[in-house]
Amino acid sequence: MQADVSVGGAAAESDLFARSIARVQQAAKHARIDPETLLRLSAPRRTVEVSLPLRMDDGSLRTFRGYRVQYDDARGPFKGGIRFHPQVDIAEVKSLALWMALKCAVVDIPFGGGKGGVEVDPRQLSLAETERLSRAYVRAIADVIGVDRDVPAPDVYTNSRTMAWMADEYASVVREHAPGVITGKPIGLGGSLGRDDATARGGYYVLKEIEALRDWKPSEIRVAIQGFGNAGQHFAKLVHKDGYRVVAVCDSRGGVYSPEGLGIRQIIEHKTEQGRLPDVGEKIDGTALLTLDVDVLVPAALEDQLTAKNAKDVKAKVVIELANGPTTAEADAILHDKGTLVVPDVLANAGGVTVSWFEWLQNRAGIYWELEEVHKKLRRTMQAQFRTLHARMTELGVPMRTAAYATALERLDRALSATGTAKDFQKGRR
Ligand code: NAD
Repeated sequence: MQADVSVGGAAAESDLFARSIARVQQAAKHARIDPETLLRLSAPRRTVEVSLPLRMDDGSLRTFRGYRVQYDDARGPFKGGIRFHPQVDIAEVKSLALWMALKCAVVDIPFGGGKGGVEVDPRQLSLAETERLSRAYVRAIADVIGVDRDVPAPDVYTNSRTMAWMADEYASVVREHAPGVITGKPIGLGGSLGRDDATARGGYYVLKEIEALRDWKPSEIRVAIQGFGNAGQHFAKLVHKDGYRVVAVCDSRGGVYSPEGLGIRQIIEHKTEQGRLPDVGEKIDGTALLTLDVDVLVPAALEDQLTAKNAKDVKAKVVIELANGPTTAEADAILHDKGTLVVPDVLANAGGVTVSWFEWLQNRAGIYWELEEVHKKLRRTMQAQFRTLHARMTELGVPMRTAAYATALERLDRALSATGTAKDFQKGRR
């Protein structure tokens, strides 16, 4: 059932957030939900915009714009990463926060959706400047976050060290030990074992399900990965170890391609030491990588990479979206018609937030789990939700994203409708 949800005029049509809402509305046609649920989910509960003055190493002053969007918390505290990137804007942060609300419902964990970001190119900052900016950001949003209110985590160009600065700053603002306010922390500060590669590992467990369904032999399967940061690198490592042939990887500066397969360990070592990919195989750019002749394509960088322009040229049979929002609605339709299985971001990269939930649970309990336990619990979650969504997708004949959104909306609806709907009040039902 659909509610009439307006998100702005013609100008907003090209806006990422308007497009994100339109996709949710489309998927809602397949969901058994009250129309009020869509209305409630048509805008974030709170949007915070802050200006962050930063003293640079050379003595000059610069200001940076930061955001925290709290989308929905009906199922639990707001939850979502913090991105440092020059293209961060409010439409992006709102979309990412909405996707977090859906994602937490897809993997059925007791969190709502949120997201944060700072419009900055951290590659232009020194380490000390990045620390000051991270601390300034947390001071600016400290009033709205908290262990039971809103729990940030890493995202693009932020990592466990950024989380360490932020958790430390938050503790000094509230004057108490509160490790559960931020996840993705270093182990020494209450981080969980297995959080570092959790996003990639969740996607890897999904790949293992597809491998079993399709009777794949890993050594015959060629994989291309766009983006070689936390998500992309760990995914490359896991599948390479498993015998898959990773034939192409790239970062923001370009990529490398070898049809026989790349030496992933050596590439990771080089990238870690030199900050860039080595000169091996053929050079390839991030756009050309998307249409290579491979079996599995893994976007692990930014939004809007697979579009109406290039989707028809995608040769991969399976796309595993480790990145958030890499495929536009038009591309989704083209890929679905071609028979390409697109495992949507809200499932494919949900390993990260799932282990963030484990970290939060451990912080609250003050008891820490062994790595095997984290892996076992993560695998069980990813397997169960993949199977649920695969069955629903097959039954409805829709893209897996539609099945995922419909399932998430039904879970959100159970929380959002629990206090009563228009029908209850009109009929005076108790
Ligand atoms: P990261 O900062 O560790 O890595 C990002 C990578 O993308 C870098 O290698 C960068 O060079 C590359 N990149 C940037 N722009 C590019 C471009 N135009 N073309 C090709 N490569 C480009 O970030 P990450 O944590 O790995 O996040 C990557 C994606 O995964 C994002 O969409 C993020 O939202 C998503 N994600 C991350 C997590 C997590 O736990 N880290 C969880 C869920 C989703």
